[in-house]
Amino acid sequence: MLASAQDELNVYQSAEARFEIAAQKLGLEDGLYKYLKHPSKEIKVYIPIARDTGQLEIFIGFRVLHSSIRGPGKGGIRFAPDVNIDEVRALAAWMTWKCAVVNIPFGGAKGGVICDPTKLSKGELERITRRYTAELSEWFGPERDVPAPDIGTNDQTMAWVLDTYAMHVRQATTAVVTGKPLDLGGSQGRKEATGRGLMMCCNRALEKLKMKREGCRVIIQGFGNVGSQAALLMHAAGYKIIGLADINGGLLNENGFDLPKVYDWVYNQRNPLPAFPGGGTKVSAQEVLFHPCDILVPAATENQITSKNAERVDCKILCEGANGPTTSHADAVIEKKGIFIIPDILGNAGGVTVSYFEWVQDRQGFFWRESEVNERLQDVMDHSFDQVVKYAETHEVNNRIAAYIVAIDRVARALKLRGIYA
Ligand code: NAD
Repeated sequence: MLASAQDELNVYQSAEARFEIAAQKLGLEDGLYKYLKHPSKEIKVYIPIARDTGQLEIFIGFRVLHSSIRGPGKGGIRFAPDVNIDEVRALAAWMTWKCAVVNIPFGGAKGGVICDPTKLSKGELERITRRYTAELSEWFGPERDVPAPDIGTNDQTMAWVLDTYAMHVRQATTAVVTGKPLDLGGSQGRKEATGRGLMMCCNRALEKLKMKREGCRVIIQGFGNVGSQAALLMHAAGYKIIGLADINGGLLNENGFDLPKVYDWVYNQRNPLPAFPGGGTKVSAQEVLFHPCDILVPAATENQITSKNAERVDCKILCEGANGPTTSHADAVIEKKGIFIIPDILGNAGGVTVSYFEWVQDRQGFFWRESEVNERLQDVMDHSFDQVVKYAETHEVNNRIAAYIVAIDRVARALKLRGIYA
């Protein structure tokens, strides 16, 4: 059953709506349905932090373990002012389905702290991270729950998580967290992995739809870890990036952007993206989504394409880099427009796949070359893409529901084999 209109922007309800449709089409047994619908554990932590001024402040953090049926929980930690338990719960469930779509042996989890990292010093961020990790030191662990970066956190944050955890368990445990710096057991290719996975899906979709890569017009909303890497890689591969946006606004340029220059402008010269001097028309951060293109990649945040604006989306392929950029209420409109969708739980799964490779390498104590990482990623993404699209075609469902069905079926089979411990 779809969530009511006023709840369209509740991501948990959006996630649930897709789960319900997929579970119904799959004919999931009632008991399994109830089991998989609910998370396994949720925790809220109150984090006391001394600000640089000496003033004490309490920050609120969450961690949700949705499932550990197929392996340890896996999922990022988000630092953002609008983090809330419903969002973290939805993101945790998505991680379960995402890991299952690409068939890696993890469950799903997610965490977050309500804070604005742009208004906190490095020292304050470190203290928040360490206290959050300390509070959760019994939840985390390479065989229990393995965090990673998400919005507002990065490899430095993961280094602090690793160090705090190691201090608590009194041993070096690099596999407790992924997305770490290379010097601390991180994996080659992890930084680019989500963007690379998106491109691999787009390459596959072009083959499927018999479209050419050269000159294929791409718009990317979000120029953070996911969006900027996707843009750089796709530009280098021959795609024409005609639209970009970050939180400060968007830019359109039909001639295509020179991506290394844009990247340098934003990341080395530290300028706002819309002020890029290399050409382009300024539009709002949301308006880029509605400009005609071949491939649209929302890679910023949730709830960008809704029932109110989906009609204006004008692309052939919608490849979701962010988690939950399209609300469940917009699904029908996108489908009716005949847009080929690469859903988030498939499209952005390159990140968690290379996180899995990182976890494997840490546990082996043996590290792979970047070419090996990318080759293995290619295998996983191609195979997962093909399975989802084949399922969609043979069962006459859209790619999003097909991805959910493939995932739920895998988790349900593992659950049946394990049985219920009571
Ligand atoms: P990030 O914090 O590095 O970047 C976010 C980008 O989006 C920034 O450029 C920011 O300016 C922009 N942005 C934020 N709100 C916006 C808005 N309303 N309009 C336009 N731009 C906006 O985060 P990230 O790691 O790139 O993650 C982006 C999305 O991808 C999130 O939904 C995240 O959950 C998802 N994701 C990330 C990874 C990963 O490996 N980092 C993996 C899978 C999914």
